[in-house]
Amino acid sequence: MSVIREIQIIIDNEPPTKGEFSIEVEQVEISSFGSDPDPNWTFIDTHGHFHAYTADMKLPTLDERAEWHEYFEPDEETGETGYTTLHLHCRICDEEIRPGRIDRGGYRRFAAGRTSWTVRVNGEGALRDKKSVRIIHSDQMHFGIGEVVEVFDDHGRRALVISGVSELAQRKAPARIGG
Ligand SMILES: [Zn+2]
Repeated sequence: MSVIREIQIIIDNEPPTKGEFSIEVEQVEISSFGSDPDPNWTFIDTHGHFHAYTADMKLPTLDERAEWHEYFEPDEETGETGYTTLHLHCRICDEEIRPGRIDRGGYRRFAAGRTSWTVRVNGEGALRDKKSVRIIHSDQMHFGIGEVVEVFDDHGRRALVISGVSELAQRKAPARIGG
């Protein structure tokens, strides 16, 4: 989560006031366990037939064959009655061939998911009020719609915590703000 304090915030069309802006981008894990075709794989089957990937990773000497495996009885949850596996066979002699693959191992990657944002600012409002929020950050402006989720007393002034209910858009800040 990143927090920027003392940033200019405009709520509805009130004069700009200094407040605190926090933004958090949820990290979504993308994990993969698998393998990629090995471009260097070549193979000669028991009948002397040569097999390899082409430059664009096709297997022109092999035929793909689907094999249906029927369950003894249909799956109770999904209702599926079986599953298919794919085999590759030499187009000449029908020997089953397993093209070389490179094990990528398991890896974890993260991608940006949902963004949540919040501002804390002095201002008037009641819980659940919807507010138009503009945040001015150097020459950029963020804007969106927030909802008041907390109202509290900040050294004698009313302060609000407003949580974004729309995405936070970004554009270049106009030369003059407010008004
Ligand atoms: Zn063969």
